[in-house]
Amino acid sequence: MRAGIKTVLALAASLAVAASGDAAGPAVGGYAGPITDAHAHLRLGADDGLLDNQPIGTVALREIDASAGVTRSALIVIARRGDMAATRRQNDAVIAAAKASGGHFYPVASVHPLDGAPALAELERLAKLGVREIKFHPNTQNFDVADPAVDTVVEKAGELGLVCLFDSYKPWDANEMGKFLLLSVKHPKSRLVLAHIGFSQFREAIAFAQIKKLNMGGNVWFDTSATVSAFAESPMAPELLWTMRQIGMDHFLFGSDWPVDTPAVAAAALRRLGLTPAEQRAVFHDNVQKLLGLPPEAG
Ligand SMILES: [Zn+2]
Repeated sequence: MRAGIKTVLALAASLAVAASGDAAGPAVGGYAGPITDAHAHLRLGADDGLLDNQPIGTVALREIDASAGVTRSALIVIARRGDMAATRRQNDAVIAAAKASGGHFYPVASVHPLDGAPALAELERLAKLGVREIKFHPNTQNFDVADPAVDTVVEKAGELGLVCLFDSYKPWDANEMGKFLLLSVKHPKSRLVLAHIGFSQFREAIAFAQIKKLNMGGNVWFDTSATVSAFAESPMAPELLWTMRQIGMDHFLFGSDWPVDTPAVAAAALRRLGLTPAEQRAVFHDNVQKLLGLPPEAG
């Protein structure tokens, strides 16, 4: 009997660890392979931190990745408007940081859509340098997704084979998901990633499942950052999982939004959401590798 009680207590303890989200390792029976974090921010200096305590450089993130089973990670920068020299310097810095990592990091460079022709020229330069993805942030960069300038950069990125990563939650623009829908339909050769699945507006993303029936919207992917962490333990968790499956689990990428969440916390939340091991493999690793054409990991 005592042994039986001990077993039960040990099981309860292990379940508690699994449920707490602090465990770095994979859940029992879940996906245990390599993880790519498709959404992590790089801080280069005193004035570009997402949080005051975000470490500068890649050393801290590299250590945090190792403890979370993340073998490859995006490094995102966000361009400011009106200073192309600074934009180019920032892009060169993120490219250099990725190069120095021996393949662990890949660069997600940025331009400001309202910087006009120089921004388009910078996209050309970035494509030649091997960059695969460009970050746009309608809130931080203060632009409207419906601005014609956004059409111009998205079309150009598509021509150059660059994937466009957009933040997709602007609480003061309730129509933003509709604007992304229109953007994807107007630029079918451009590939968009909508970070956070619209966050609390994730229900709106179901429209992308609907327009796929009309052979549109297949050029849109979503990253799980912020939203899966926020809702994995909520009454809306089954709806979030259902929405993702309706759109197609092959169009979702794991992301942490570091330094907002650590990769370990974000990965634990995704494991709790109820994806099958095959779906986890796709979201944690395979989808982003396919979308960006990333080479196999060094090991
Ligand atoms: Zn972010």
